[in-house]
Parts: sequence; C-alpha cells; structure tokens
Amino acid sequence: MSHSQSWFQHEGIEVSLTQDPRPKSPVEDLTFGAEYSDHMLLVNWTKIDGWDTPKIVPYGNLSLSPALSALHYSTECFEGMKAFKGVDGRVRLFRPMENMKRLGRSAVAASLPEFDKEGFLECIKDLVRVDRDWVPQPTETIKHPSLYIRPTFIGTEPFLGVREPHNSLLYCITSPVGPYFKTGTFQPVSLYADPAFIRAWPGGVGESKMGGNYGPTIRIQRIAEAKGYTQVLWLFGENHELTEVGTMNIFVHWINEDGDPEIATPPLSGTILPGVTRLSLLELAATWGSHKVVERTITMDDVRKAVKENRLKEMFGAGTACVVCPVAKIAFLDEHLTIPTMESGAEVAQRCLKELTDIQVCITTVLHF
Ligand code: PMP
Repeated sequence: MSHSQSWFQHEGIEVSLTQDPRPKSPVEDLTFGAEYSDHMLLVNWTKIDGWDTPKIVPYGNLSLSPALSALHYSTECFEGMKAFKGVDGRVRLFRPMENMKRLGRSAVAASLPEFDKEGFLECIKDLVRVDRDWVPQPTETIKHPSLYIRPTFIGTEPFLGVREPHNSLLYCITSPVGPYFKTGTFQPVSLYADPAFIRAWPGGVGESKMGGNYGPTIRIQRIAEAKGYTQVLWLFGENHELTEVGTMNIFVHWINEDGDPEIATPPLSGTILPGVTRLSLLELAATWGSHKVVERTITMDDVRKAVKENRLKEMFGAGTACVVCPVAKIAFLDEHLTIPTMESGAEVAQRCLKELTDIQVCITTVLHF
C-alpha cells in the first residue's frame, strides 16, 4: 500500500492484551470520566509515511514531546459517544458514524489529516469488543449505564512553527459511566445567561468539537456556580439568541405564536455544535405528528414573552451525557425567569428520554463477537 494514502487498514489491526487487568468499580460508584478500561486504540500518521497500522494496547501513559503542536496551538479535536449493554447482554453503539463524520469535520478545522471514518469506527468496535466486560450492565436501580467512548485526534509534531502538524495521533480511550441523574429521576437545572460571555461566533469554530471551545468555558461555568446556578446558557448577538446550554443543545416546547404546539431548537448556523442527540430528537419528534418540529432562532425576548403568556411548557438541554436535562429557571441580566418544565409534567422531555434510551439499548448498531 502506498503510504501517501489517506486511509488505514482495519484488517491489519494489532492487538496486545494487558497482563494486568484492573478491578472494576461497581456500577453504583461510577462517575463520569474518572476511570478507564484496560485498553486503548492508537493510530499514528506522518506526512511522509501516511497512516501506520492501528494498534490496541494496554491503557497507559503516552510518551510525547513537550513541543508537540496540540499542546501549543490546540491542533486537536475529540468525540463523545457511548456503548450500551442491553438486558439481553448485547453491546450496542448509538449512531457511531455521526460521531465519525463530526470528528472528520473537526479534524479539518484543526488542520489535522483526513482519515478513514469507516476504518476508524471498525477499530473502535474492536476496542469495545476487547473491553466488553467494561461496558456496565444495567441493574434494577441503575437503568442506563454506559461505556463512554472518547476518540481523540492530536497533532504530535514537535515543532513550534504555527503550521499544520506533520505528525499526528488518532486514538481512543473508553470509560465506564453511571447514570447522569443519580436518583433515576430528572433533576432540573438553573441557567445563568450573561451576554458578556460568548462561546462561539460566526466564522469561528463553534461547530467543531475542539478542546479550544471547552477550556475557556470552565471559568464562566464557575462564575455561574458562584452565583448559585447550575449551568451557563450561551447567548449570541444583539437579540440575545439562545445557542447552547453548558455542553448541550437546547430545545423548547411551547405553544407558538400561531397557537400550535411546537418543539424548537436553534438552527445550525456554525456557532452551535451539531449534536447527535439534537439530530435524533428532531427526527424522533417529527414522527410523533403531535407537534410542529422546527429549527428556528429563539431569542430571550421570545422566551420572556412565551413565559408571560403561559405558552412556554418546557425547556431542556440535549446531549450524549444526559440525553435530556430539564431547565427550571434562567437568570438573564436583572431578570429571573421561571421555566415551568417540571410543573408542565416534562411531557416532551420524558418522552424524548424514554424513546431515545429504548433505541439505545434495543435497536441500534449491535456489536457481534
Ligand atoms: N453542544 C456541545 C457544546 C457539546 O459539547 C455537546 C456534547 N458533545 C453537545 C452540544 C451535544 O452533542 P451530542 O448530542 O452529540 O452529545
């Protein structure tokens, strides 16, 4: 095979198993991103030789140059996806090609090389097969645990010039996680919206899953917490358009100004991460036939007016971590808005959660062993 080709061969994957498997925590004790399974997947690329053979190796530290491009210029991107074990014991991935496609788009934004998305997904499936015992099994009380999968792509060239890296590493680690809502029932969040803080802007990289979009949000999240709020509601523009909530897409369920029941989320304008959950909920809700399902701009004025006129029923975040997360209140400048998601019975949020999690454990891509 010519080394200048932009794909790598999944068939030739090399697997080296750990001699020292680590103990697994009980599913009740699992938190997000704190422990890792026994193996990881590595695929190196160099501009001269192209893609190296993919390797599954025991989980461990990487040896990297302190001059590497990703550390200095943020030439990196990542994904977040999950594997689920059903009550039938089979392991399933939820729409994994959507994550591969998004990783491919983020890689372009990060000046990282093109990669073979189908091939990389096959390698990830092999990794999950090797670590299948790390995919937590649902229990009576913990209904929806998962193995969180973190594909990551970093520029590894040790060179301080600002240019596209000539070496890179595509890798994947996995981490068993418990349920987002510990008690098994919704815990609504309160949002802090300050138009002084902007997550992403037109012409920027807000639609890419790059570390540079996340690090700077931590300080703002702490400001929200110090003021007594759970998460940040990210606004954009003079009209204070709602864009995202924390690291989730945002949905409203309201009676629109024409009097129709509507489920709405802001359109993908380049400043919003195109969530796989967002896409799935739009597709799912469209099949119900009970609501208009639209992508439309939603401003703080729209929200305020709908609350005042008792038309706003629900607001919720949507993402891989929680599936859906109901919103109870918003602080915006001097205003305190009560969002009646729970009072309205969280009917749409509950239905989204139920139907999507049912699909995740019953119908989606099954891994065969
Ligand atoms: N927005 C942001 C900023 C995110 O980080 C995420 C999590 N990936 C989402 C939305 C939700 O995306 P997904 O449904 O693919 O998890």
